Amino acid sequence: MKPIKVLIATPEAIPFAKTGGLADVTGALPKVLKGLGCDVRLIMPFYRQIQESGEKNEIKDAGIQVSVPLGFRELNVPVFQSSANNVPAYFLKRDEYYDRKYLYTMPDGDYFDNAERFILFSRAVIEAIKKLNFKPDIIHCHDWQTGLISTFLKTIYKNDPFFADTKTLFTIHNIAYQGQFPKSHFQLTGLPPDVFTPDGVEFWGNMNLLKAGIVFSDIVTTVSEKYSKEIQTPEFGYGLEGVLQAKKGNLFGVLNGVDYDDWSPEKDKFIIAKYDYKDLSGKAKCREDLLKEYKLSLPDDAPVIGIISRLADQKGFDILSEAMENLMAMNLGMVVLGTGEKKYHELFEGLAKKYPKKLGVKITFDNKIAHKIEAGSDMFLMPSKYEPCGLNQIYSLKYGTIPIVRATGGLDDTIQDYDAKTGAGNGFKFKEYSSAALVKKIKDALCIFADRKEWKKLAQKAMQQDFSWEMSAKRYVELYERLLTKGIQ
Ligand code: ADP
Repeated sequence: MKPIKVLIATPEAIPFAKTGGLADVTGALPKVLKGLGCDVRLIMPFYRQIQESGEKNEIKDAGIQVSVPLGFRELNVPVFQSSANNVPAYFLKRDEYYDRKYLYTMPDGDYFDNAERFILFSRAVIEAIKKLNFKPDIIHCHDWQTGLISTFLKTIYKNDPFFADTKTLFTIHNIAYQGQFPKSHFQLTGLPPDVFTPDGVEFWGNMNLLKAGIVFSDIVTTVSEKYSKEIQTPEFGYGLEGVLQAKKGNLFGVLNGVDYDDWSPEKDKFIIAKYDYKDLSGKAKCREDLLKEYKLSLPDDAPVIGIISRLADQKGFDILSEAMENLMAMNLGMVVLGTGEKKYHELFEGLAKKYPKKLGVKITFDNKIAHKIEAGSDMFLMPSKYEPCGLNQIYSLKYGTIPIVRATGGLDDTIQDYDAKTGAGNGFKFKEYSSAALVKKIKDALCIFADRKEWKKLAQKAMQQDFSWEMSAKRYVELYERLLTKGIQ
């Protein structure tokens, strides 16, 4: 059989540009798909970060440019290229839109022209691959920024022979981020007016780009089985539950995998001592190093709880804030790495001043420190209100850093509550979204931590679990094949 040609269209991917888990996914998935025999390429905007990483990533001019309609204008978009893990990557350059400090959001809010930026990107993807003469069997789109790609293909390009055999798969990484814009922006798309209806891109009078991706793509996936069910309910669907229910037959949950080349204590290039499940002595050194990094002083019998997160309500910072005084009275230490809402910056920095020996807070985005936290912590806390998949709890397992999570989305799918009687389970999990439930679960974890032999056994078991990309990527290939052979239901 001929290799399946897959184009990954994404607003971010490592090693080029990252704001969160999406970049980890679109960075790792292409190389595994390639290993499974697909002919994969990646396409994304040419952000400032990518320009600045030019030397490291060997970025070259691809020697082509495309003319892209945007409202009443035609914009020239030059294409640049590089590769990562032997997967070709293309970058669409338009400096007034992408040569900026941040990808989508500044500390005080979203860029005012995000609609324009990503309408242009979606249309330019289509024009660029035509010009590159890469005729994909599948365009695998990620999040609202790519929502219009399938919409264009099903409307403006529906009779274009180049795309006659192209199918689209759209992955939702977080349904709360929908790319909603006032109706006035619709004219920028150049789409026929009948697309602006409740069956199309219209959503309560606005244009909704995530909805566009859901409605017009052939298959929709999201990043865990549990989340694929949750988003069909009013509690988690953010108004799109009905649209998703209508798509039910073509909606699937595919759990994200982990790239263990980047995230394992055996290979991690950022940590002071490597270790594995057979010999955990390196982990103790990593803990010392982490405490030094955060200038904390803790007795040996106090566990370090790590947090790496966007500081947002979604991640459970409201219930955590309520619980902090209670937690600081316990025999434990805590290290926090994150950026996000200002109220949490201030709150956590204030608490760190109050508890300088026990609580360390760094308000920054720093990959190296993230790795040090995974290796040096004893426990990892994710009390999320909702969590489509979550990656850090899965990284934590590999580092023998036991996750304490709330039972939602991917956290619920990957973590089983520890049962001291049977030894079953790989972490600690609470159901109710409240600071009381969170505190109680941390107390449970502290009890088990006190028995160092039992804790070590639990850590060793966690470290041997396998969430590598192989399985998830195979599932995507199955879905691609289903689209190419059986079509959609
Ligand atoms: P999100 O909802 O933010 O995408 P995920 O758990 O899916 O959450 O992925 C978050 C990714 O971003 C992980 O790789 C995590 O280590 C990383 N990350 C989040 N905040 C920071 C930070 N402040 N510094 C470094 N890495 C971070």
